Amino acid sequence: MGQLRKDPTRGRWVLVRPKRGADMGGECALCPGAEGLTPPEIAAYRKDGSAPNGPGWQVRVVPETDPYFRIEHDLVREGVGMYDTITPRGASEIIVESPRHDDTLATMSEEQIGSVLWMYRDRLTDLKRDPQIRDILVSRRHKRPGVPAHHPYSRVTAIPIVFDDTRQALRKAREYFQYKRRCLYCDMVREEITAEERLVEVTPHFVLLVPYASRVPLEAWILPRQHACLFEEALRRETAVDLARLLSGYFRTLVTGFGDPAWELMLHTAPNLGMKILQSEWATVRDDYHWHVEIVGQTERANRLGGIYVNDVPPEEVAAQLREAWVRDRGRGA
Ligand SMILES: [Zn+2]
Ligand SMILES: [Zn+2]
Repeated sequence: MGQLRKDPTRGRWVLVRPKRGADMGGECALCPGAEGLTPPEIAAYRKDGSAPNGPGWQVRVVPETDPYFRIEHDLVREGVGMYDTITPRGASEIIVESPRHDDTLATMSEEQIGSVLWMYRDRLTDLKRDPQIRDILVSRRHKRPGVPAHHPYSRVTAIPIVFDDTRQALRKAREYFQYKRRCLYCDMVREEITAEERLVEVTPHFVLLVPYASRVPLEAWILPRQHACLFEEALRRETAVDLARLLSGYFRTLVTGFGDPAWELMLHTAPNLGMKILQSEWATVRDDYHWHVEIVGQTERANRLGGIYVNDVPPEEVAAQLREAWVRDRGRGA
């Protein structure tokens, strides 16, 4: 069993754990027919009413076989001399996005992507019923450098602390709100729609843009135009359809116009508001925080200098290239 340890000089948490066992390789454990190779399923969408842990599913959720965080652990916070440690109680789940082994988010139907988004919502809602879970990250990698292609899946990581990046983003959003009495992200949406130069696509419910201070050349954010701090509360059938169409368009554009690069998607939603310890700190979170999606292109090695990202392509230029490729791709599809 691992430990979450806090680095007191930086205030950041590190998960210290034994090395993973070697992957068995061979047969894909996430393909239909191989359900016996994974631990019992947590949830699944089955249009044909088929039984759990067999084929017939559209989207399926299973625990990770070698999880970073486990629900069975007791939550223990300890001081070890001057240091702080917490047991890694939480959940590590895999959302299998499609029964088709070779599917990617660029080849899946919009309906299929919509079902995956709905499963994100279901898992966030379910896991947040556990009062010992404080924060949940839904993430998704495409073509991780050095790792062979595999069955398409997203990862859900639920943990007993707030992720360092989330904590920092929550603090910045709260400071902005305290000063201006407006949501930072709502202001950003307004600003970017007016400026236009970093906008890639605007739909009835979302904007897709290249952020002002992109860390890498291919970075895109999707912001809902309607203010809400929780993805899982805000998602409706109609917004899921709109978001699925936007994601499908973006990933197809990356394939047709940008040589199918590696990327990582992260869903940013407010932490578990039911958790008591920090409730005073989160008093304005419903007004000051705004859920969104960040999709960051993964280069072989991030270009950083003493922690400062060095991005050699201006975001405005990338946005123009994306707009052009998007229109070309749509022309092809029509
Ligand atoms: Zn497979
Ligand atoms: Zn907002």
